[in-house]
Amino acid sequence: MVDSFGRHINYMRISITDRCNLRCRYCMPEEGVKDLGHGIILSLEDIARLTRVAAQVGIRKVRLTGGEPLVRKNITGLIKDIAAIPEIDDIAMTTNGILFPAMAGELKEAGLKRVNISMDTLNEERFAYITRRGGLSSVRQAIFKALELDMHPVKINVVVIRGFNDDEINNFARLAYDYPLHIRFIEYMPVGDLLFWEPERMMSSEEIRNVLQNEYELIPEKTVEGNGPARYYQLTGGKGSLGFISPMSHQFCAECNRIRLTADGKLRGCLYEKQEVDLKEALKRGATDDELRELFLQAIKSKPARHNMNSGWGQLNTRKMYQIGG
Ligand code: SAM
Ligand code: SF4
Repeated sequence: MVDSFGRHINYMRISITDRCNLRCRYCMPEEGVKDLGHGIILSLEDIARLTRVAAQVGIRKVRLTGGEPLVRKNITGLIKDIAAIPEIDDIAMTTNGILFPAMAGELKEAGLKRVNISMDTLNEERFAYITRRGGLSSVRQAIFKALELDMHPVKINVVVIRGFNDDEINNFARLAYDYPLHIRFIEYMPVGDLLFWEPERMMSSEEIRNVLQNEYELIPEKTVEGNGPARYYQLTGGKGSLGFISPMSHQFCAECNRIRLTADGKLRGCLYEKQEVDLKEALKRGATDDELRELFLQAIKSKPARHNMNSGWGQLNTRKMYQIGG
């Protein structure tokens, strides 16, 4: 399906819960999120059905995210249902990794192909500080488990926050040098729990690249499988790669191929804009697949040309990243 600006929309990110077992300071408040309850959150059956309808309008790739997707019960069953949709050729997940080591085998068997694991620091104490919970050793295990199970490419998300982890940038690069990991440095955005946000904490991809270039030679690379907005570089002699996700300094809206389904059943064309189509309400009133398909088409058609985040610092967005699905 092509949207109003000529972009091919073939990728859907699904937030399957807005709950989480961590409380990253830039994302969630300490007290967590109010339980939305069964009546509000989409059931796993509804998510599978909506994915089948999405496949009919051209969605080929699906990413499960949240909140933390692995805290939702029976996620393995959902992955199996999505894997059974013939048009869907890629199922990935973004996870904080804490619960992944114990579940990795069954997730892969169910049809999960790839994981992005978030890890903002390599230091135990800092990890406990930023997540307000801790568990870095489980995240490390998760990364090695994903490599062991050949869930390539294994990508690591690192939100770079000045004054917190900018002195670890080269240590992360070392990880990509030693292992076949794709480290993605993400610009800190004013979209989560804004209590932690300060404009000075945002470090642009260009600044991050400058730090790296003091120690490494970066070679611009062909794209890494997965359809993301990252720009990748190889390290001379290294096994993995480095990627830069620059929503703040460089809009990648012109290449955006995605739509997002929130845990409470709203379909969004853009992470940063308020416009949503209410699929949960449609399901409640017993909409047919044809009607749902029309709603998907409506969301795709109303996808904005570009986001507006840089003007207004998050005020535009009343929902947080864990609600929309980061
Ligand atoms: N809980 C999972 C995780 O942490 O990977 C999936 C959901 S999380 C919202 C998805 C990604 O968004 C994570 O890599 C997280 O670091 C990133 N993220 C959350 N808030 C952010 C912010 N304000 N700026 C940049 N990235 C953010
Ligand atoms: Fe949870 Fe992911 Fe948000 Fe951290 S970034 S609080 S792990 S949803």
